[in-house]
Amino acid sequence: MGCLVHNQDLRRHNSFGFAACAENFVRVETLEQLQDAVAQAQHNGWPVLVLGGGSNLVLREQIPGLVIQMAIGGRRAEPVGDDEVRVTLGAGEIWHQSLDWMLDQGYYGLENLALIPGTVGAAPMQNIGAYGVELEQGFDSLQALDTHTGELRIFSREDCCFGYRDSCFKSMEPGRYIIIDVTFRLSLQPRPQLRYQALVDALQARGIAEPQPRDVFQVVCDIRRAKLPDPAEIGNAGSFFKNPLVSAVHYRELLQQFPRLVAYPAGEGYKLAAGWLIEQCGWKGHVRGAVGVYERQALVLVNLGAGTAPELMLLAGEIVQSVAARFGVQLEMEPRLYPA
Ligand SMILES: Cc1cc2nc3c(=O)[nH]c(=O)nc-3n(C[C@H](O)[C@H](O)[C@H](O)COP(=O)(O)OP(=O)(O)OC[C@H]3O[C@@H](n4cnc5c(N)ncnc54)[C@H](O)[C@@H]3O)c2cc1C
Repeated sequence: MGCLVHNQDLRRHNSFGFAACAENFVRVETLEQLQDAVAQAQHNGWPVLVLGGGSNLVLREQIPGLVIQMAIGGRRAEPVGDDEVRVTLGAGEIWHQSLDWMLDQGYYGLENLALIPGTVGAAPMQNIGAYGVELEQGFDSLQALDTHTGELRIFSREDCCFGYRDSCFKSMEPGRYIIIDVTFRLSLQPRPQLRYQALVDALQARGIAEPQPRDVFQVVCDIRRAKLPDPAEIGNAGSFFKNPLVSAVHYRELLQQFPRLVAYPAGEGYKLAAGWLIEQCGWKGHVRGAVGVYERQALVLVNLGAGTAPELMLLAGEIVQSVAARFGVQLEMEPRLYPA
């Protein structure tokens, strides 16, 4: 396996910038190194945390056992007929850079997911999504190491049970599978996905009447830079809560009480804008010691410097309670708290 480090400082390995210390830490660049690391953890009875870019994690101060930093790289493509291509990326590849490369190659379909931080291997965990596109739309399959059996397993799209910010890897058997590579099935023909109104408006504002995938990529980057805090400057994990899904009946009841409710049709029901719910409860811009709610987007919780996971979780808990009391809706946290 790679070089084992004791008491590794993880402050620079998580986008909240929390001071966390890994009892043991190893960076793996090959499948063999990964298998050795898992074997060593099992031999020592260590719990394992697989770490990508740390942009969807809330880390407590002490991380017991072994942290495995996923750094398995690799990019390869094979054509599928005249119109499509299958692209396989190593789990340790950086998501945004890979997307940029795919666009350069003329592989289209995921450009709306530009600038989402983190690695390729973590992207299926919560079926990353933004601006009207979710990862599953370009997904073909993935390869993962089953830490229970030591075997490699291929997962089809159906096997992954993708949902809204969810997959079997996140909610059914967290920690069991370590994703090694992900294969996408993409189009060789530009087919921009323009369902998201803010994206359409931004393209129009730039006078782009017939947007190409690269235009979409660029505009998504611009919108995100204007809206979200850069973790290099203000610690955060993007959206801290999922947008709650409610039934059509519940939605209509809420709408009667709150005519300005922000919501979008989703399947049989509605997805409520969690940021709006939080803002209505007065939390936007709220600061509590060294943590707080981002002043420009109430869905984003921030570490203003010396904050800690317990402080942030306390604030998050109060936000959840106040939204439940006012709207009767339960917010669910999006990043993973570790150790739980
Ligand atoms: C500013 C900002 C904006 C964001 N915007 C979005 C957005 O628009 N849409 C969205 O969906 N998300 C968004 N996120 C969240 C985050 O970027 C994504 O969830 C991303 O996929 C996490 O990647 P990571 O490599 O940083 O994962 P990490 O935070 O390192 O890990 C996340 C989880 O995945 C597990 N994991 C990581 N790699 C593997 C692997 N190879 N095999 C098995 N398990 C693994 C970890 O153990 C952990 O449970 C945003 C975050 C930030 C900071």
